[in-house]
Amino acid sequence: MDAYNPCLDCGICCTHFRISFYWAEADDTPGGYVPADMTEKLNHNLRCMKGNNQVPRRCSALTGEVGKAVSCSIYENRPSPCREFPVYFEDGTPNPKCDELRAMIGLPPLPHAPLPRAA
Ligand code: SF4
Ligand code: SF4
Repeated sequence: MDAYNPCLDCGICCTHFRISFYWAEADDTPGGYVPADMTEKLNHNLRCMKGNNQVPRRCSALTGEVGKAVSCSIYENRPSPCREFPVYFEDGTPNPKCDELRAMIGLPPLPHAPLPRAA
């Protein structure tokens, strides 16, 4: 993991979005990896992380205090939306959605690369 990871004092996206994904990503299906007992069924095609399907949202896999110190308890097995939400784009530009979310909890905007990129 990179030395600098701005997600570790943030975590707001894990309490903001409903994290939904193709049902077969869960580990009760062959080849699945997301712990199925931390998910709930949305429809025939989709599941979501428990805790994210109601307001206030908080993913059941999130540990710690948002805006202070957090971690994902299933980081290696997190679902695809969590893997695909970028903190930085390829050119090192911070994701403006991250800055928007971080501002909601009083965190400063992300610094531009050349800081090592996270997630
Ligand atoms: S920095 Fe962005 S991706 Fe990381 S926890 Fe905060 S909002 Fe989510
Ligand atoms: S699975 Fe992990 S990264 Fe994804 S929303 Fe939950 S705590 Fe956040």
